[in-house]
Amino acid sequence: MDKIRFATVWLAGCSGCHMSFLDLDEWLIDLAEKVDVVYSPVGSDIKEYPENVDVCFVEGGIANEDNLELILKVRERTKFLVSFGDCAVTANVPAMRNMIKGTDPVLRRCYLELGDTTPQLPKFPGIVPELLDKVRPVHEVIQVDMFLPGCPPSASRIQAALEPLLKGEKPVMEGREMLKF
Ligand code: SF4
Repeated sequence: MDKIRFATVWLAGCSGCHMSFLDLDEWLIDLAEKVDVVYSPVGSDIKEYPENVDVCFVEGGIANEDNLELILKVRERTKFLVSFGDCAVTANVPAMRNMIKGTDPVLRRCYLELGDTTPQLPKFPGIVPELLDKVRPVHEVIQVDMFLPGCPPSASRIQAALEPLLKGEKPVMEGREMLKF
């Protein structure tokens, strides 16, 4: 059987979901025999999201222009897309700023009030991508094929989601251990 083209994407999240992925420990060696990692912050140094990706796990909400541009490309180029972890599924912690109107107070707090050496607001467009007014969960922007909630999802639940996908089957998460997070 051909290896599946596998990707993971890191949007607005703390990277904890990717850390949980690394908790798969020695199963990662089995996984490496069955997938080609074509894009991932932890498994590849490829900068451009490639065409013809079979499965992609997306961590994080959509908080800025870069996130938005990337997730549209990811959807277009991916067959099976998993909304991976609570930040992707609900927007979670990054969405706490949604209670504040506009992005200006957030930028002022981060870059001026908490700036310790040379406080200054970032210039847009520039190195820092422009914030969107609200942080959105992934499914509010594109269609997702599966939700894998949890903050983060445990390694055992990640494995349970991946095993059927490696066989070309859609995962069915059943039982208390798989539904409790
Ligand atoms: Fe971090 Fe939790 Fe968000 Fe995952 S769901 S990126 S662990 S805050």
